Amino acid sequence: MKINIPETDKKRVVIVGGGFGGLKLALKLARRKAYQVVLLDKNNYHQFQPLFYQVAMSGLEPSSIVFPLRKAFRKKEDVYIRVTEVLAVHPDRQQLETSLGICNYDYLVLAIGADTNFFGNEKIARLAIPMKSVSEALFLRNRILSDYEKALSTTDYEERQGLMDIVVVGGGPTGVEVSGALAEMKRYVFPKDYPELNTDEIDIYLVEGANRLLAGMSEQSSRKSLEFLTNLGVKVRLKTMVTDFDGECVHTNDGETIRARKVIWAAGVKGAKMEGVPTSALTRGNRIRVNRFSQVEGLENVYAIGDIAYMEEEAYPQGHPQVAQVAMQQAVCLADNLSNLHRGRELTPFSYKDLGSMATIGRNRAVADLPGFKFQGAFAWLIWLFVHLFQILGVKNKVFIFLNWVWNYVTYDQSLRLIIRPRVPKSGEVEVES
Ligand SMILES: Cc1cc2nc3c(=O)[nH]c(=O)nc-3n(C[C@H](O)[C@H](O)[C@H](O)COP(=O)(O)OP(=O)(O)OC[C@H]3O[C@@H](n4cnc5c(N)ncnc54)[C@H](O)[C@@H]3O)c2cc1C
Repeated sequence: MKINIPETDKKRVVIVGGGFGGLKLALKLARRKAYQVVLLDKNNYHQFQPLFYQVAMSGLEPSSIVFPLRKAFRKKEDVYIRVTEVLAVHPDRQQLETSLGICNYDYLVLAIGADTNFFGNEKIARLAIPMKSVSEALFLRNRILSDYEKALSTTDYEERQGLMDIVVVGGGPTGVEVSGALAEMKRYVFPKDYPELNTDEIDIYLVEGANRLLAGMSEQSSRKSLEFLTNLGVKVRLKTMVTDFDGECVHTNDGETIRARKVIWAAGVKGAKMEGVPTSALTRGNRIRVNRFSQVEGLENVYAIGDIAYMEEEAYPQGHPQVAQVAMQQAVCLADNLSNLHRGRELTPFSYKDLGSMATIGRNRAVADLPGFKFQGAFAWLIWLFVHLFQILGVKNKVFIFLNWVWNYVTYDQSLRLIIRPRVPKSGEVEVES
């Protein structure tokens, strides 16, 4: 069965993934009107991943950091959105197999992003909590709050400790930001919410395999982030690997055992899986190898951008960092090149322009490596706030986030500490989709 999308005279560009890369590309192509644009995503919304941790820490509502895809394309002609999971690509037939049926393409762009990498450890994958979607961030929020509720009625010291302590694995921006936010909750929020618990006993661990935090940033930022976190009381373990987690205890390679029921896994990503991409085109971290025009190696009319794409250029012999800026810049370049292709013009190779990187570690503390200068502290934190506010889609989202931040800053409190569990209907109560 074919997905119901009208056939037109225009060539069809099918984009899989409405993340930073896919959405930008679809918007650019829609404006130029040279192609029919089909955007496929398993969700009906775009997710702003840099603020997932604030949802998990009860600082923001999930609805503030997502944007409905249909809203982004209102009044755009010849753009078709289908909420469906793409199961496989058949490059020989120029077709995609999706949960809604078959979709033909003239040009295909894979912008499917990355998944959490547990480095083959099935047990950890089953028990640790990743943060790669807004649903996972919400799950984490529920788990943290539910465990503190349970801790209140647990008399056994060790068991209570296990419910209260949290281990964060991975000292990249996500791990650092989560640890900082947890440390602030321990300091400002939990004592007010749980006066019956001795919140001084809460331990937050950050475990990182490398010899420094924020390995992708400058030494200066690494040092400062370690200092900020240590001052906030986070127990940072560098040059340490988590070797096992059984749901009760975390074991590390240097023999330490930490009693903690929650492990937040921020230790790495790998390219999202897509059946039908030849293994010869796959490279390190399950990324798809592309040339400087984003064309997938060995496939015709198939492109990949963003986290899933592995592109080498002189300044980036190991590929680009998996960050939003790369995805968006590649989208802009590909949109230009598809227009060039339409007009029979020469294509332009992609070159990444690094606009810098930042991480925040609680209120008034952030580190920023911008082209030409590096700074840390309150000014970096303000810049971080404004950059993220500027990037988030939708005026409503900007306003809500700004108001939340001001409220949190003034009151030292996050107001969204609700345990909202999805209700699973009893069988027979509603019709279940097959
Ligand atoms: C917690 C966290 C914090 C981050 N913080 C920052 C930051 O501060 N700054 C920064 O620059 N970067 C940050 N990143 C990285 C940044 O979010 C990614 O680099 C960026 O999202 C990559 O964009 P993309 O378009 O390649 O993929 P994504 O934005 O991940 O989009 C992929 C899309 O594809 C869809 N999809 C995947 N598979 C299928 C399928 N089979 N069928 C249909 N749809 C599919 C997904 O639903 C998703 O919408 C962070 C990432 C995480 C997880």
